[in-house]
Amino acid sequence: MSGVRRPEPARLASRGGRNSKEKARRSRPAREAAAARRPRRSAKRPPPVYMLPRRAQKIEIGGEPLTETATVTLAPRQVPVLPVRHTVLFPFALLPLNVGRPKSLRMLNDAMAADRTIAVFAERQPTTEDPAATDLHRVGTLAVVLRMIRMPDEQVSILVQGLARVHLNEVVSTEPYLTAKVSPVYDAEVDDVETAGLAQALLTEFERIVSISPTLPAEVLVAAKNQSPPGRLADFLASLLELPADVKQPLLEMQDVKQRLHSLTEILARQHQVLEVGQQIQEQVQQSLDQRQKEFLLRQQLEAIQKELGEGDESRREIDELKEKIEKAHMPEEVRREADRELARLARIPPQAPEYTVARTYLEWMCEMPWAVSTEDDLDLKHARAVLDEDHYGLDKIKERILEFLAVRRFKRDARTPILCFVGPPGTGKTSLGMSIAKALGRKFIRQSLGGVRDEAEIRGHRRTYIGALPGNILRGIRRAGSRNPLFMLDEIDKLGADFHGDPSSALLEVLDPEQNGTFTDHYLDVPFDLSQVLFVTTANYLDPVPPALRDRMEVIELAGYTDLEKLAISRRHLIPKAIRENGLEELNVTFSDEAILKVVRDYTSEAGLRNLERELANLLRRTAKLVAEGEEPPRAIDPNRVHELLGPERFQTEQLTRIEQPGAALGLAWTPAGGEVLMIEATVMPGSKQLLLTGQLGEVMRESAHAALSYVRSHVGELGIDPEFFESSDIHVHLPSGAIPKDGPSAGVTLCTALVSLLTGRKVRTGIAMTGEITLLGRVLPIGGLKEKVLAAHRAGINTVIIPTENQKGLDEIPVEVRSHMIFAPVDRIEQVLGLSLEGDAPVKTVVGPTDSETAPSASDGPETPSIQTESVVARRRES
Ligand code: ADP
Repeated sequence: MSGVRRPEPARLASRGGRNSKEKARRSRPAREAAAARRPRRSAKRPPPVYMLPRRAQKIEIGGEPLTETATVTLAPRQVPVLPVRHTVLFPFALLPLNVGRPKSLRMLNDAMAADRTIAVFAERQPTTEDPAATDLHRVGTLAVVLRMIRMPDEQVSILVQGLARVHLNEVVSTEPYLTAKVSPVYDAEVDDVETAGLAQALLTEFERIVSISPTLPAEVLVAAKNQSPPGRLADFLASLLELPADVKQPLLEMQDVKQRLHSLTEILARQHQVLEVGQQIQEQVQQSLDQRQKEFLLRQQLEAIQKELGEGDESRREIDELKEKIEKAHMPEEVRREADRELARLARIPPQAPEYTVARTYLEWMCEMPWAVSTEDDLDLKHARAVLDEDHYGLDKIKERILEFLAVRRFKRDARTPILCFVGPPGTGKTSLGMSIAKALGRKFIRQSLGGVRDEAEIRGHRRTYIGALPGNILRGIRRAGSRNPLFMLDEIDKLGADFHGDPSSALLEVLDPEQNGTFTDHYLDVPFDLSQVLFVTTANYLDPVPPALRDRMEVIELAGYTDLEKLAISRRHLIPKAIRENGLEELNVTFSDEAILKVVRDYTSEAGLRNLERELANLLRRTAKLVAEGEEPPRAIDPNRVHELLGPERFQTEQLTRIEQPGAALGLAWTPAGGEVLMIEATVMPGSKQLLLTGQLGEVMRESAHAALSYVRSHVGELGIDPEFFESSDIHVHLPSGAIPKDGPSAGVTLCTALVSLLTGRKVRTGIAMTGEITLLGRVLPIGGLKEKVLAAHRAGINTVIIPTENQKGLDEIPVEVRSHMIFAPVDRIEQVLGLSLEGDAPVKTVVGPTDSETAPSASDGPETPSIQTESVVARRRES
């Protein structure tokens, strides 16, 4: 046992920590007393004396205070044994125990009568009722019984204090209780750096445990720090911590202090981990508990508040109200069943739950749909005509068409009504015609723009399961109308988009298809709604983008735009009175002269429709009103000068735009969704290498026309009087102004060709002439579309001569007489005719115009033999004949 130091009493006392002086003081008499009692032993190994800790002095047993003389000599000795279960007593530790076994009770009685020392040994198998010596661990603790209290149920409660580790050497007797010979087991303790380090590590580990343990108070840390030597610190902590007996027992058996410190540190480290994890879990649980508790409390408070405010039965009342609404909605049977089912569900959902709102909103929608509300159609045609005439100037053909449409309904009320589609530039009265039809029929009017709609769900709604879902445009419109047979205007069907969300046009097809729309099912309502009584009217600026399937369903009515005189008349009859009415300016007594209105039409707007005109007229009125309000006396009769003063500089000086000043320029006519337009085409030539440059955002078709025109010119240099080599060392550049606006189509062919010839021959194009027509490589002129819009545009721009393809002549009927009568139309079949008509100068076009091959020759009676400009009356006369 080299290096192992046995504790000496004096040493023990002097290292005793907190109050070592006092301990030292106490230790002397104790040592002396012990020395007096103990048998003589070899000087080498003095029998150690353990002292009771100071606290023991205050403990009273049976009224007798334990005194300092209650010291216990540690030497091999014979003691009664107390077997214990599930627990281990460590030296210096206090341990309360309940004792009930008769043998143990007897033993305690005897011990209390003697010196109160016993040996406490833990049982190996806690199940044995009467354990023999073999059932006990070999190492236990010598202890003194500090207190014994008898309990009513034949049990006693004792408080024992551990004194020293002892080894069970031999059983002396088993009756009336176990008595054994025990000998002390000394700590194998080395006072070295390693031990000190291990003790420190143990303390640190313990400190960490104390910091997070919910049960260990901070004072125990102080107590632990005061324990020494390290072996005793280990015992103190081992007994303090709640460890299972089978963990504690090995610690008790560990004589080697380093090993004991080491093992205990490991145990503590694990204990710390367990505590930490436990703490985390605890925190999580606490958090969720806190949250739930908070919600619960808030709910309770909410209920209490509602009760206090008399709103406790809010949801009940809501459900009753909904029930009543369902009753009044006169839903079809199938729909009613669905509504009842949803209502029953609603009654089961707590009002605070999010689904409650979802279900309630759904039911409100169901109740507000006009399932059984409709208006009676007024099919009096006289009345209808009066309404249309009152709201709209002109548009005679269109009004006739609308009246026919109404007449059919009169005779066959359940007739599947075709869908009217008004096509035309903005501001031409499409919407207002729809409103007039609704007014004439006595139907509700509802308008929904489809511009930019690219998601099927916008037409058909989102499923109820989506957050914030609503019915689609169609049913929303119907609800707004509040009748199941309104006139439903679907605006801008040409602007309908499509993307990955699904194609809205297929949903729209279902809406417009009389075969299917009787049971139109919106995703949100999820029950069929009958749309067959709805009168759908659609509008578009142009039809090209409308999917063919949709176009097939519709009866197209075109509105091309208005002439200046029509605009004048509409301004007088409708726009000005309306603007006065809407702005409340009746008292102002403003009047407009015709010239003033025409000035606004020509110099401040350039459009087929009336949108800007309407705005500018309103501006004139408002500005006059403002001056009056400012105390001035502005003229109330508005003439062109006044227009200039109020609206500022003219915005469209068409003359400048259409004046041709040098060879290489020609005026074409284009068609756009906003109406017709006059288009200046310019060409120039420069040194280069046979390139045709085309600029101004030309589309593929227009580029090809330009190439065809150039090829025509190059192949006819002789007849045209152009230098045959012109292209060898030059480039030609053709530009269409308003370069930012994309342009396409074949109808600029004749204009492109004319500009080129003008450039290369040096002959200017006559001012006041515009042209339209497709050309072929061989110089034929083919018909074009949008004649009416183009002619109106030319008229607006102050052009009096328009060269058109002969085949388009029949379309001239469509053009208002007041325009026709001011214009000259020159029908042509060949480009040579165009050139002859449009180019200035005497130099004749060499090959004179006329049919060059039999195929393209116009019949003698139908076409002109030599180019001549025919007035409209000539054309008209010829057709009559
Ligand atoms: P769109 O729907 O084609 O864009 P609107 O119906 O909005 O055009 O018409 C623009 C304005 O012009 C409206 O105030 C409308 O009443 C008026 N308007 C259009 N055409 C006529 C017409 N023929 N007679 C009277 N007012 C018209």
